[in-house]
Amino acid sequence: MSPVIPIQSASDCAPSAAATQGVLRERGQREVFCGLTGIIWLHRKIQDAFFLVVGSRTCAHLVQSAAGVMIFAEPRFATAIIDDRDLSGIADAQDELDRVVKQLLSRRPDIKTLFLVGSCPSEVIKLDLSRAAMRLSREFAPQVRILNYSGSGIETTFTQGEDACLASLVPCLPAATADGEAPSLMVVGSLPDVVEDQFIRLFNAMGLGQVHFMPPRRSTELPPVGPNTRFLLAQPFLADTARALEARGAQRIAAPFPFGVEGTTAWLQAGAAAMGISSSAVEQATAAARERASAALARLRPALQGRSLFFFPDSQLEIPLARFLHRELGMSLIEVGTPYLHRQHMAEELAWLPPGVQLSEGQDVERQLDRCRQARPDIVVCGLGLANPLEMEGMTTKWAIELVFSPVHGYDQAADLAQLFARPLDRRQRLAA
Ligand code: SF4
Repeated sequence: MSPVIPIQSASDCAPSAAATQGVLRERGQREVFCGLTGIIWLHRKIQDAFFLVVGSRTCAHLVQSAAGVMIFAEPRFATAIIDDRDLSGIADAQDELDRVVKQLLSRRPDIKTLFLVGSCPSEVIKLDLSRAAMRLSREFAPQVRILNYSGSGIETTFTQGEDACLASLVPCLPAATADGEAPSLMVVGSLPDVVEDQFIRLFNAMGLGQVHFMPPRRSTELPPVGPNTRFLLAQPFLADTARALEARGAQRIAAPFPFGVEGTTAWLQAGAAAMGISSSAVEQATAAARERASAALARLRPALQGRSLFFFPDSQLEIPLARFLHRELGMSLIEVGTPYLHRQHMAEELAWLPPGVQLSEGQDVERQLDRCRQARPDIVVCGLGLANPLEMEGMTTKWAIELVFSPVHGYDQAADLAQLFARPLDRRQRLAA
């Protein structure tokens, strides 16, 4: 295994008709990024964690190019390259990994949690990273916690990287079991700090003093979990994390996701109700932000109303975004594709979709492209690999990955989220003029 290749980081830089009608299930060729992509936003969020991808040069290039900007700072992710010696069995890959980790941790005492991130190559050669994490944890605990998860692209889509990462953290959360104690609220899903701070202010204004966020900004400040924990998902792609939290006694609060004014209000209302806060307290606390966001959306509505939209399955944000764009901006939905449809987590969202909308789960990319070409939507939301060819065919596209990289949750970001769709339409119009 080659020594750690440092990668420059960027920052240290009741169901409706739609829900009940048939969902088109496709199991053909897919065009999606892998879970390594999540490292880009996770390393910014958890500021004392390090992500060591155990993979190939392709993996290293993917993470590096997704990070984008080159800066002169100590990166908090890297790739340990599986090389020919590891593949041919000349070198013991477990020994090599130990050597690389020891070298890294001796050089970087600031690392408090190290994630060993599996990839397609590490899975193909069956390199057991859970064994490595356990062995190395024994050596480096309590100074450094060493965990592992898979970011591979085998049967996954890119947002599953965050789900796998957070699920690997759940067993480390301290126990908060105390029968009879008041319930506590945990918001689950990586949010930009600015968005997290806005939600904290709103919760405080409603009278909710302490709200925990998972993941926390520092991995040494993991939130407690137990039967009194009620959690709100901030992201729609956290099925494994939710299951792991439920296994520790926590209860999920059923809610739509906090996109747009309507989704954010319903999400906050659901969280507040679970904590015994009245609906009027929420209305009062959110009145100014709701008014600001509604006015900003009203300014953008003329650019989007009546325009048609086609979602290819990619980020797993498709259903909540489709709901927002349809209900708050008047866009018409041709097809809403999602890589996986979690009916329970999506129940409130599905109930808000218009009757008759075509939902599809999974992908058969050629067939879906045919449907898209036939429909000629005003805008297509898809992965990078499809966007350029579709643009060449005269279609307007939006990169799905940008919706995950950008702050889009909550009231103050509602107009920014709408802008992400209005801008490409405006650009196409200008080019055509
Ligand atoms: S994990 Fe798999 S899909 Fe992702 S970059 Fe590495 S080889 Fe490619």
